[in-house]
Amino acid sequence: AKEAGRNAFRFYTERMNADAQERLDLHGRLRRGLEREEFILYYQPLVDLKSGLVVGAEALVRWQSPEQGLVAPGHFIPAAEHSGLIVPLGEWVLQEACRELVCWHAQGGRQFSMAVNISSIQFRRGDVEETVRRALAASGATPAALELELTESILIDGAEQVLATIKRLQALGVRLAIDDFGTGYSSLAYLKRFAVDKLKIDQSFVRDIVTDRDDAAIVRAVIQMAGSLELKVVAEGVETEAVAAALRAMNCDLVQGYHFGRPMPAAEFRRLIGVA
Ligand code: C2E
Ligand code: CA
Ligand code: CA
Ligand code: CA
Repeated sequence: AKEAGRNAFRFYTERMNADAQERLDLHGRLRRGLEREEFILYYQPLVDLKSGLVVGAEALVRWQSPEQGLVAPGHFIPAAEHSGLIVPLGEWVLQEACRELVCWHAQGGRQFSMAVNISSIQFRRGDVEETVRRALAASGATPAALELELTESILIDGAEQVLATIKRLQALGVRLAIDDFGTGYSSLAYLKRFAVDKLKIDQSFVRDIVTDRDDAAIVRAVIQMAGSLELKVVAEGVETEAVAAALRAMNCDLVQGYHFGRPMPAAEFRRLIGVA
C-alpha cells in the first residue's frame, strides 16, 4: 500500500510537472506569436434589429499558430492573462481595431462603430487610458466610434481606482459597455456607480428565450431597464429567427449572433459593409 501511495504521488507530481511544462510552453509560444505577428482580428457584425442594418462590429482576436492553426481566444486568453502577455496583446488588439475602423470610415462607412474587449488584467496591470490614447492618436480614429467592452470582473474590485480610470476613459470620448451582463454578482450596483453607455446581455440568457419563460422575463426586464436608464442594449448569441423575432417584440435595439453573422476576417467584413 505504501509503495502504491508513493507511485500515486510520483504520478501526481509528474502530471503536475507536465501541466506546468505545458503552460510554460504555451506562454513561450504566445510570446513568440506576438513577436511574429501571428495574431489576427475577426469581426462580428453588430446589427440594428429594427432596420436589419449592420452598424458596427466586435473585434475578436484569433491566433494563427504554426502548430495548431486558427486558435480561438478561449484557448489562449487565460494563459495570456496568467503570464501578463495580455497587456501587449491587448495593446496590439486596440491598435489593429482602430486601424481597421479608420479604413471603414475613410471609405465612406462613417456610421460604423468598433467594439474591443478589455481584459480585467489588462485594465489593472496595464495603463489602459494611455494605451487607448496611443491607439487613437496613432490611427486617427474617432473616439466616439470606439467602444470598450468591460466585464464585471473589472468593475468588481478596486472601486475608487477603477472609477477614476473609467472617468478618464470617458473623458477621451470613447464609449463603454458592460459585457456578459447578468452573469456577475451585483450587476445593478455597477449601473448605479458607472455611467456606461451600453449593456450586452449575456448569451446564456438570450439563447432560450423562445422556450424558457424565466429567461424571457429576465431579458425583457433588462431591456426595459436599459431603456429607462437611456442605455443601449445588445442581445448576444442570437442564433435563430425565432429568437430575433422575440427580441423584436421586446423592443431590443441591437443584436449579435450567428443568425446575423459569424465573426469573420477583415476582408470579408469589409465586403459585407460595402467599403472595399
Ligand atoms: P465575448 O466578448 O462574450 O464574445 C462573444 C463570443 O461569442 C465570441 O466567441 C463569439 O464568436 C461568440 N458568439 C457570437 N455569436 C454567437 C452565437 O450566436 N452563438 C454562440 N454560441 N456564440 C456566439 P470568441 O470569439 O471565441 O471569444 C470568446 C471570448 O474571448 C470573448 O467573449 C471574450 O471574452 C474573449 N476575447 C475575444 N477577443 C478578445 C480580445 O481581443 N481581448 C480580450 N481581452 N478578450 C477577448
Ligand atoms: Ca465582448
Ligand atoms: Ca459577451
Ligand atoms: Ca453581469
